[in-house]
Amino acid sequence: MDFKPALPDFIQALPKTETHLHFEGALPLELLQRVRPEFCRPPASWAPDFKFRNFEHFEAELLDMAFTWYTSPERYHEAGRLIFARHLGQNVKYVETSFASGVIEFLGLDGREVLEAIRSAVPAGLEVRVFLGIHHNGASAKMRPVLEDALAWPGLAGFDLHGTESLPLEPWTAEYWEEARRAGKYTKAYAGEFMGADFVRLILDEVRPQRIEHGVRAVEDPALVAELVRRGIGLDVCPISNHKLMPGLTLPDHPIRQLFDAGVQVTVSTDDPISFGSTLNDEYAALATQRGFSRRELARLARHGFEVSLLTAAQQQPWLGRLDEMIGASSGG
Ligand SMILES: [Zn+2]
Repeated sequence: MDFKPALPDFIQALPKTETHLHFEGALPLELLQRVRPEFCRPPASWAPDFKFRNFEHFEAELLDMAFTWYTSPERYHEAGRLIFARHLGQNVKYVETSFASGVIEFLGLDGREVLEAIRSAVPAGLEVRVFLGIHHNGASAKMRPVLEDALAWPGLAGFDLHGTESLPLEPWTAEYWEEARRAGKYTKAYAGEFMGADFVRLILDEVRPQRIEHGVRAVEDPALVAELVRRGIGLDVCPISNHKLMPGLTLPDHPIRQLFDAGVQVTVSTDDPISFGSTLNDEYAALATQRGFSRRELARLARHGFEVSLLTAAQQQPWLGRLDEMIGASSGG
């Protein structure tokens, strides 16, 4: 007899990664409630069909929540223990998360202490790589020495270009990203959510990140999509975040389908769960129920996450092997 587990059980059983997660945006609701009792009810943006007016609306709400909790390295650590425990609970094996240089700057925190606070919260059974997120205009006079110093922080996996896409791309950026790679750091950049395929191409040509965060509007340019496939540039996509934030886009017409079908290494993440109210399992479930991803395709999405990860081949192997078994067992979807 052919036994097919229920969809939630199948998703839970997939070994997974999460490679696009803003640490401040992952603030657990119970910690927010401790400092802001008015959040006894979750934010309105947790409603399934909530739409933010624009990026600024989203960012203002997120920072309002994040700034009341993240005031010290100890609080980063406390949040990390809860955030990573939830990953383990969803059978997530590998996480990339970034903390924001802008928050460090605003609160006057020591970046190295925040980095170690996050790293020391990682439980056994989970691999975590921590990135520093820097906005287009993040190299202020105050931050420049910190950014220079960060190139040599041993526990820092890399850098991620963040923030409002439409702000000018300043000349320091390409140089800094190049320096980071020379220092052995991995580089990512956010592009192609509010700005179109041209901006993704500009970022690829000038900043030359090894992976793109979101990048979904690359779909507008078939030549760019082909280039992403040819160069093996992964896109860390967050479907529910896009559904609630991108103008004119909803889950049933999300371009992750076309990108996946074209062979782009798309991965699945939650982005900022305190704003969007989704878990990683919710993201996979939404792709199955609203974007027609079969179980075999969900397992292939999970596989992409390990393929683009910074894990060694030996570390990837058990999870790729398990996913291949699940892909083989999911004949007919
Ligand atoms: Zn993001």
